[in-house]
Amino acid sequence: MANKKNMKTGAELVGNEYILNGQPGKGGKEMSFSYISHLYCSACERKYSTKEKQQLCECGSPLLVAYEFDEIKGQLKPGDLVGREASLWRYHELLPVEEEKNIVSLGEGMTPLLRMPRAGQDMGIENLYMKDEGTIPTGTFKARGAAVGISKAKELGVRHLAMPTNGNAGAAWSLYAARANMKATIVMPVDAPVVTRKECVIAGAELYLVDGLISDAGKIVSKAVKEFNLYDASTLKEPYRIEGKKTMGLEIAEQFGWKVPDVILYPTGGGVGLIGIYKALIELHTLGWIGDELPRLVAVQAEGCAPIVKAWNQKKPYSEFWESSSTVAFGINVPKALGDFLVLDAINKTDGCAIAISDEELVAEQQKVATQEGAFICPEGAAVFAAARQLRENGWIKDGESVVALNTGSGVKYSDLLSCAVPILQPDEGLPFRQG
Ligand SMILES: *Cc1c(COP(=O)(O)O)cnc(C)c1O
Ligand SMILES: [Zn+2]
Repeated sequence: MANKKNMKTGAELVGNEYILNGQPGKGGKEMSFSYISHLYCSACERKYSTKEKQQLCECGSPLLVAYEFDEIKGQLKPGDLVGREASLWRYHELLPVEEEKNIVSLGEGMTPLLRMPRAGQDMGIENLYMKDEGTIPTGTFKARGAAVGISKAKELGVRHLAMPTNGNAGAAWSLYAARANMKATIVMPVDAPVVTRKECVIAGAELYLVDGLISDAGKIVSKAVKEFNLYDASTLKEPYRIEGKKTMGLEIAEQFGWKVPDVILYPTGGGVGLIGIYKALIELHTLGWIGDELPRLVAVQAEGCAPIVKAWNQKKPYSEFWESSSTVAFGINVPKALGDFLVLDAINKTDGCAIAISDEELVAEQQKVATQEGAFICPEGAAVFAAARQLRENGWIKDGESVVALNTGSGVKYSDLLSCAVPILQPDEGLPFRQG
């Protein structure tokens, strides 16, 4: 086969990979699309191959992805990212998909990091930012996990997956599965936001509603997975969704110019986003792209479902099942998370904290952020802003600190929740006169 030569870099294209010759420090080594190395258990010593489908470790704990950091160090510098496409795939070296042709994308990632001057002033946080996931395909950050999870599933030859969901993940995985021409079976609570049902159905997924919680949906999926030999795409039961979610952490660091904010607040259900952001920060630190000082990570939950907050207050390494959980912030209604110990570890290692917000507080905050900043955020994101307000009031967030609030989705997906009492006019009526 004749090799193509890239005149600009002097690299030769062999198959899909560039081989750099004679560049200092690069030693003629092949450049890979991904520097994935292996899977390791988050709780025991076992390692697993990334070439086959994997679910949990034999010990029942989640598997995480390891990369060849020494090789990445020699091949990639932050400056190399400049000019790459504005999607999460700009970080492909740090993602698990080995061949570019397996990428299943709807253009997800590189969401805006917005300054929030009026909301910030209102709560006394001068340097308040919002990382806004409301603009991403499928309307929530679940698109990140779905894009990377589905791409890797495609690479591994998965034809049919199943998952329990509180709605948003099911919607995202159904749509990305459709794009990958893969079959998806989804089980969600009857109370989940109605629009998410419709997203699953229009994507052609097989959808079931369960008269219960996400934990009940999980039990049904577990059984079906065994019975019908399906790929279990439940939270943390496959190792790649978290890799998609970690790109929020990579983007925050890049958008801050490879510095990091003092505090990142995250609405925590299964906690994958928070574990992912922590993993991203550790990886960037390992590469030497950010300094020793990591942001303090805050897990925000709803008062009606706060198992992580309870465990954190009691200084326990694990959470307990939260009975009869309930909150309007449906994405964080998770009574027991498989990765709870990883969330608690990330909070502890970064001197962070965990805090619970009432539904009344978060609904009021959602209104404030919309009127003060023009951002229609989701209830989960609103919980994060309410948490920032409280943590500033009690002095945990200090004067002048930079704070990033993660808005995990668009408020439009939850518009059923909002009441909207406004006057209705007859066609021949005028507006009532108002002063000023
Ligand atoms: C799923 C979800 C969350 C919680 O995310 P985890 O990473 O599972 O903790 C928060 N907000 C929204 C909108 C969600 O859909
Ligand atoms: Zn293990």
